[in-house]
Amino acid sequence: MNYNAQPKASHFINGAYIEDTSGAPIKVIYPASGEVIATLHSATPDIVDKALAAAKSAQGAWAALSGTERGRVLRRAADIIRERNRDLSILETLDTGKPLQETLVADATSGADALEYFGGIAGSLTGEHIPLSGGDFVYTVREALGLCVGIGAWNYPTQIACWKAAPALACGNTMVFKPSETTPLSALKVAEILIEAGAPKGIFNVVQGYGDVGSSLVTDPRVAKVSLTGSVPTGRKVYAAAADGMKHVTMELGGKSPMIIFDDASLENAVSGAILGNFYSSGQVCSNGTRVFVQKGIKEAFLKRLSERLATAVIGDPLDEATSFGPLVSENQLNIVKGYIAKGLNEGARLVFGGNQLNKLGFYLEPTVFADVTDGMTIAREEIFGPVMSVLDFEDEVEVIARANDTEFGLSAGVFTNDLTRAHRVIGKLEAGSCFINTYNLAPVEAPFGGSKMSGVGRENSKNAVNHYSELRSVYVSMNDVEAPY
Ligand code: NDP
Repeated sequence: MNYNAQPKASHFINGAYIEDTSGAPIKVIYPASGEVIATLHSATPDIVDKALAAAKSAQGAWAALSGTERGRVLRRAADIIRERNRDLSILETLDTGKPLQETLVADATSGADALEYFGGIAGSLTGEHIPLSGGDFVYTVREALGLCVGIGAWNYPTQIACWKAAPALACGNTMVFKPSETTPLSALKVAEILIEAGAPKGIFNVVQGYGDVGSSLVTDPRVAKVSLTGSVPTGRKVYAAAADGMKHVTMELGGKSPMIIFDDASLENAVSGAILGNFYSSGQVCSNGTRVFVQKGIKEAFLKRLSERLATAVIGDPLDEATSFGPLVSENQLNIVKGYIAKGLNEGARLVFGGNQLNKLGFYLEPTVFADVTDGMTIAREEIFGPVMSVLDFEDEVEVIARANDTEFGLSAGVFTNDLTRAHRVIGKLEAGSCFINTYNLAPVEAPFGGSKMSGVGRENSKNAVNHYSELRSVYVSMNDVEAPY
């Protein structure tokens, strides 16, 4: 390994790296080789306390700056991230195993987009004037919530850190962020870059750790809000713990999203959508459309074209820019996904592509497609979080809408058809927060992103995220004498 991935220390608190080697070791493993590329330490209670204390004491002065001044810091950080995109992308590839071909365009750049967007609107976050009878009026003031905690999953570590930090900081909050222990490296870089961009010390702090560290952050009384990206079971626990302290929450959780392909759709576009919605990041994307409903008339043509195109995927060294498909993030995740493939076979699904672990170092699994999947099969009901697509047949619109909605999840949904009215009619009936017509899995910062049903609460990105990181104070102003009954 020619790259040095070891950070200066495990945590970043109050503007500086800090270490406490008495915390449990966290070994960072390069998924393409299984090599340990860095060793960090989980935060001790003292480190957690230092981070929360730093964020708490920095918040008042940060909120007292004008929005324009706060926004300037975020926009500078976005510029620095873009200048260092290649180095940051290499680090992200080492941390996650995702191909450099992807990380160069989807990770640090997406984080920069969020910092730029929320930096841009920070100066426009205002309240309103509400006129009342007799000249009285109310004005509202948009205020920061205070100290926010961000907890991230391992699939998009830089993006998740920035998607949470950018709106939080724009609104005048401060943050303590805990990355997934599987991918602890890049959030430290975000913290370092914010300081370089002129951020006051303590407004964005990173602590490493396992779920217990996350849990101690969520339950601390100094914390006003918790934003989690993770699985539904973790979401349930974190939401419940936050409710105890009446804290605000954003929950970005898992999915089992439907993608519906009608027989009048462009076959090539539908295949592209199904590839993007199942195999990008080796399938480790929350919004993936893993239940691909294909209308019977085009099913065999769809499977044939899909298999032809999957055969051209370049599976290999993620640091080689020609590689388009990398390993899974960890051995644990590889075993989980292999378990689902075994279940698919046992329950009678037809394997039409892939299905095997690659006979090489690292956590590689072929892109895998099952056809003839039925609604009750485990692979059609549970989130796999790996490169496994389930293709289900359907005959008509009413039937497919009911089947698509028959899930506890509600993160995303997609429709491919050339019939304009059908596209809008169907998408309007699908129970999901982030929907697509004739494309899949695009998440521009300008658009709200998040789930319905068990897939989450609240929205990230877009102007709407501001509502989840601020609250309104209302002030009634009387212009008249006060009338009292006695
Ligand atoms: P997990 O739910 O296992 O973990 C998410 C984060 O929560 C990790 O940092 C984890 O720490 C932490 N955590 C675990 N237990 C607790 C607890 N009791 N209190 C506080 N924090 C805790 O998810 P994964 O990391 O495995 O990520 C995959 C999941 O994330 C999938 O379900 C996927 O769909 C979802 N996801 C959702 C997205 C969305 O935007 N909707 C985007 C990306 C992923 P540790 O890892 O150390 O245990």
